[in-house]
Formats: sequence, structure tokens, C-alpha cells
Amino acid sequence: MSSETAPQQILSTDENPEWYSYCCSELSKVNPTGGRLDGMRAILTRAAWMWDNGRTITVGFVAPVSGTAVQQAKVREVVKEWEKHANLKFRFIPNGNDAEIRISFQTNNGSWSYVGNTALQIAKPNPTMNYGWVYSTAGITENERGVILHEFGHAIGYLHEHQSPRRGEKLTLNEPVIIDYYRRTQNPPWDEAKTRANVINVYSRAEVSNFSATDFTSIMMYFMPANFNLQGIAIPPNNRLSAVDKAYAYLNYPFMGGSASVDPSVTLANALNAAGVTGTARTNIAAEYTEGDWRGLRAEFTRWTLNQRAASASAPAEPAAEPAAEAEAEA
Ligand SMILES: [Zn+2]
Repeated sequence: MSSETAPQQILSTDENPEWYSYCCSELSKVNPTGGRLDGMRAILTRAAWMWDNGRTITVGFVAPVSGTAVQQAKVREVVKEWEKHANLKFRFIPNGNDAEIRISFQTNNGSWSYVGNTALQIAKPNPTMNYGWVYSTAGITENERGVILHEFGHAIGYLHEHQSPRRGEKLTLNEPVIIDYYRRTQNPPWDEAKTRANVINVYSRAEVSNFSATDFTSIMMYFMPANFNLQGIAIPPNNRLSAVDKAYAYLNYPFMGGSASVDPSVTLANALNAAGVTGTARTNIAAEYTEGDWRGLRAEFTRWTLNQRAASASAPAEPAAEPAAEAEAEA
């Protein structure tokens, strides 16, 4: 399954600080027919990738490298952070081959994950997620925390934030520098197509993206050295969930109907505030919450996100391209 082989890390740290060296590929098995998706169909497809709210998802560790107790414990520990903000439970089961999310630790295979419940379409016992840089050393490093949060972000339905259709409002990428960088630093080297699919291409505006505006602090945003864009903006690696990551996790997977986060600050009001939802949308979401209708709440929130995005549609955008997930699935 070569399309799942996602490159990884590397390199000479004198030229590149360590945080330049990690990147991830997201994978999706969902194939659009006839190339690009069109707007609403894509949104519906994307919504279908989300798990049902309140679901318990089984997780396990599988061959070819099921990992040491230390590596496995790091994953178990870090995913608790998502469980605070999304009404989902990750239940680790002893026989990883039977799990819905199946994790391997192949160091020569990059870090990657299938998006949302598309993991269910992968034949058991093949892995649905891989960690190329979570090690058996004591203590969880920032890079390890970051990659575990990032891959589980994919696993609950999120895409790459650096490929947001609104990126062009803030960043103009220096494409030759980026293509050269990934060719030199990945093992095996990324060719131009791979780099375009995972870094440069944006999801088309009407379709898939996580948030109403690009969030540079999202766990789903790649690091970016200043020479990667013409604005000279350096984006350090994000190893923690941003306020927007947390808010959107809640608004897609709300605690309701008697369930509550272990963190008492995780509430509907705080999530709406962090996301910036006001007016009629806020009223409608609150009504769905009161009714205990998570599907209705998710739909109202999705509508708000789309409206926010549409409001920006007159701003110039970079040309839309194939979403990375689909492009990889066809490879
Ligand atoms: Zn990723």
C-alpha cells in the first residue's frame, strides 16, 4: 500500500532547527469521482467523515511495529487532551487487530493518519495511523505530544490547516524554496507532487477546511520557516491544541445530555466565545443544545462556518487544487 507510505523527518539540524524536520501526511480513502468535489457535496462528504457524537472509538496497536509499552503509554496519555474537548472516548483494547483505530510505530514510514471514520474502511489488521517519531525514551517530548495530537486531530476529522482555502489572505508561499526543502529533507525525498499535495495545495474554498479562518496556532498547521513565504512570517511548530482547535472540537462533538468534560471550563458558552459565534447562529446552536440534538447542533455550526467563509469569498484566494487527502488516495 504505497500510497500510505508517508515520508518523514530527518536532517541536518545545523541548517534546520529540529522543528523544521517533522511533517505528516493525512490519508483519506474517500475518492471523489471525477476529480474535484463541488461545494455542497464536499461538505456533506466531510460531515460524513465525522464520528457520531459521544461515540466510544476502540484503539489498539498493531504490526508491523506495535510499539513498546513506553511508546503506547505516550499515546494513551496525550489523547486524553482531545477527550477533554470532544465528546468522544478512545478505548484502548488489548487485541489491536480488532480496534477501529490501529496504530503502528514504523520509524521509516513517517507519521500519518486516515481522516475521521474513513479508518473504518481500512482492512484489518492494517494500521490506520503511524508514528515515525514517537520513541521509547522516558518522558513525552514536545514533538511527540504535537504529533500525537495532530494525528488524532486527523482521526476525529480534521484536515491540514496550512492548506486552508483562506491561507492566501495571510501567506504567499515561496513554492520553489518549499519544494527544494522537502526534496532535501525527507526520507525518502518528497517529489514536487508530494510536496504540493501535502503542503502547498489549498483545499478549494467552498469545500473542506476546519475553521472559519486560517488559524496559525492550530495543531493542524505545519511549522513554516520564514523563508517559506514572501511575508517572512515564521510559524513555529504547534504542539498544543489552540483555543480554536478546542472550540471546534466541542462544537462538532458537544458534551450534552448528561455528559460533561472532566475540565469544567469546557462549556458550550466558552466554545462559542472562542470560535466567535454570535447572533442568530449562536441562538440556534444554543437551542439545539437545549434540545439535546447533537446532529442539529453540528449542522447549525457547520452552516455558520460556511457563512463565515462565504463572507470572505470576495478576498483573493490562491488557485484551488486537489485536496491532499483525495490526491493521495488516488496515488
Ligand atoms: Zn497531518
